[in-house]
Amino acid sequence: MRSFVDSFKHKGLRNKLVETIHKKGITDKAVLQAINSIPRHWFLDSAMADHAYQDKALPIGEGQTISQPFTVAYQTQFLQVAAGMKVLEIGTGSGYQGAVICALGAQLFSVERIASLSKSAQIMFKKLGYMPNLLVGDGSLGWPQMAPFDRIIVTAAAPEISHQLYAQLKPGGIMIIPVGEKVQVMYRVMKTADGEPKTEKLEQFRFVPLIGEAGFKP
Ligand code: SAM
Repeated sequence: MRSFVDSFKHKGLRNKLVETIHKKGITDKAVLQAINSIPRHWFLDSAMADHAYQDKALPIGEGQTISQPFTVAYQTQFLQVAAGMKVLEIGTGSGYQGAVICALGAQLFSVERIASLSKSAQIMFKKLGYMPNLLVGDGSLGWPQMAPFDRIIVTAAAPEISHQLYAQLKPGGIMIIPVGEKVQVMYRVMKTADGEPKTEKLEQFRFVPLIGEAGFKP
């Protein structure tokens, strides 16, 4: 069972969480505000909800996790999302990262390989008044029918910087993608106006694997 109450206590805990991730280096005010606006405890089973405002990844069932709030804020800050942008997310999971992107006013397209997770994420989006486009399938291949995108965010560990996903970026677009098997390096890839990639290597993180045709084998 989940609770859809958002009490003063929850709001207070959320303010503290935002302070924590700000101290860890997230400075983009719009991103901090988006994190502050989304009740993370709604995305968790009641057994886990008490931990929602710790800066930790937590289980969401099916062997998957809701990312650590700092990681969500970090990826979102480097993605430079603005209102009206078309953003593709690979790995809908709980829907939390997607909700943060929706809170920034972007048009979200999100792909998840596990149908039950996509279904419960859809309920969450509806509760929050967001209407993203959700797909159940192998997101390692992106969502070519809906391309091109202004931004692409991959929230599972990929074996390499995906050329299939890069091909679905608009010129001037940005992709953020964690690459590696046990530990991942976060990469930000910008598609320049002439279509060439400009790649930046960022910090290390740990994600569950991206499983699929252009991902890891199950
Ligand atoms: N963004 C999520 C959130 O806010 O809760 C966290 C995502 S979790 C760290 C990674 C997700 O990627 C899992 O739900 C997993 O099932 C999904 N995933 C793994 N491989 C995938 C693939 N090929 N296509 C789509 N989703 C995939």
